[in-house]
Amino acid sequence: MDLLEQKIKDEGNVLSDTVLKVDSFLNHQIDPKLMQAIGEEYAARFRDCGITKILTLESSGIAPATMAGLALGVPVIFARKRKSLTLINELYSAQVYSFTKKETNKISVSKDYISENDVVLIIDDFLANGQAVSGLVDIVEQAGAKLAGVGIVIEKGFQEGGKQIRERGIRVESLAIISSLENGKATFEKEAVP
Ligand code: 5GP
Repeated sequence: MDLLEQKIKDEGNVLSDTVLKVDSFLNHQIDPKLMQAIGEEYAARFRDCGITKILTLESSGIAPATMAGLALGVPVIFARKRKSLTLINELYSAQVYSFTKKETNKISVSKDYISENDVVLIIDDFLANGQAVSGLVDIVEQAGAKLAGVGIVIEKGFQEGGKQIRERGIRVESLAIISSLENGKATFEKEAVP
């Protein structure tokens, strides 16, 4: 997706050979117009899949997932990382090791919001080693729902997550795929540009 790639080139900050900071439009401040374009791109790619729910992880997945939900006309559920006083119903839960925070979080979704009748699209901001996506896939499986696929804003193609998830037969659509962050520069895989 050209618009996204250009934004990463203009505003992305390469913190190391493995970490890209995009706080100016995705992880802290949010660019609504870009999020809208991202939502429409997911909708175009998954329009014919019969999606009934979008599942993401708080907090940075919420903006792109909400715009995709708006474009597809379906509700958006975000898995919670912290225990909440209001999350009192029966839960689906999974363990997720955080690449950026270097800690394991238990993520939870109320059983009220995903059932075996749902067709779910998972959306997240980054795909690195695939822990976050695997946890969300686990939750979809616990619910007995059908998984339509995974939409990622930025995939780091040099890490293992994308390969591992695709090897499980899961469709992964990444709007930008970074092949390297070496020498302080983000290099993109050609196939990421539709
Ligand atoms: P994974 O679970 O695939 O190893 O990592 C994905 C999660 O870690 C994402 O939800 C994202 O929040 C975070 N993450 C992984 N790599 C990066 C990165 O390079 N930059 C930022 N900003 N977040 C990342």
